Amino acid sequence: MDHGTGKAGGKEWDSLQYGPERLEADVEYLQRRNPFLEVKTIGYSVAGRPIRAIRFGSGPALLQINASVHANEWITSLLLMRFAYELAEAALPEAGGHAQHGQMLPAEVLAKQVKVWLVPMVNPDGVELVLSGPDPASPLYADLLRWHGHEGSFHDWKANLNGVDLNDQFPAHWEDEVRRRGLNGPGPRDYPGSAPLSEPEARALADFTEAENFDMVVALHTQGEEIYWNYRGLEPPVSERIALRLAGASGYNPVKLTESDAGFKDWFIQRFNRPGFTIEAGRGVNPLPVEEAGAIYSRIKPLLVEALKAAASLK
Ligand SMILES: [Zn+2]
Repeated sequence: MDHGTGKAGGKEWDSLQYGPERLEADVEYLQRRNPFLEVKTIGYSVAGRPIRAIRFGSGPALLQINASVHANEWITSLLLMRFAYELAEAALPEAGGHAQHGQMLPAEVLAKQVKVWLVPMVNPDGVELVLSGPDPASPLYADLLRWHGHEGSFHDWKANLNGVDLNDQFPAHWEDEVRRRGLNGPGPRDYPGSAPLSEPEARALADFTEAENFDMVVALHTQGEEIYWNYRGLEPPVSERIALRLAGASGYNPVKLTESDAGFKDWFIQRFNRPGFTIEAGRGVNPLPVEEAGAIYSRIKPLLVEALKAAASLK
């Protein structure tokens, strides 16, 4: 692999704090090296940062994989961009079938069977907040300190810059989630906001998902080494079978969840009756140490390759 100036593809890729600036550099690098890639900005964060989406392949089966909906789970952006680098190599015409270099799909499978959109950092403001703390120049600086509620680092922050938990923002029994969370204002986690999709990042993801009409979605979170695949019995029968395939590829546990609403995959399943998954990568306390990214990736890569194959089999 040509490491170039990219970060997620570089030799020391698993020793980096991975924030929005590094993501931007990686996206630029990938685009420069692979002019056939399509990169889209699907919306902007509260602080005006672009939310990027990168497309590989042009097959009929449409898959979305997103990461860093939760701020202190930013290691998922690093994992997904590492995957993007490897997909880019596999998809390069001159590579012409890269499968021998690991479990990557050959170029023709990517090109002819699947179109996959990666959304590597849904919550760039939140990630930056976790990595660097609140910006004194931000109009939300005083609010952020108050909402955070204690001294010290923002490592426990999951929400966006408005203190809203983006994975409690989707219109799937949102009111039940509000009651369950029992919070009446912004904070580091679990506040569902004043209304579903009140936050620009959640709105961008929902609009993009509606517009592209995906056959399947995968949301990368940390932690627990688990695969959530159901929602209130609304998922299609194939969901459980795919969950078992993803489990077989990664060693993660498929888990049937109850008592949880308003997440992205919940909304996707309810809205489209198609398979949607939340993957809880790695194990430990968030944010997971970046030094573990290599070990986590060794389980996530085969899971994502299996997700591509499963999506292809839907069409
Ligand atoms: Zn999460």
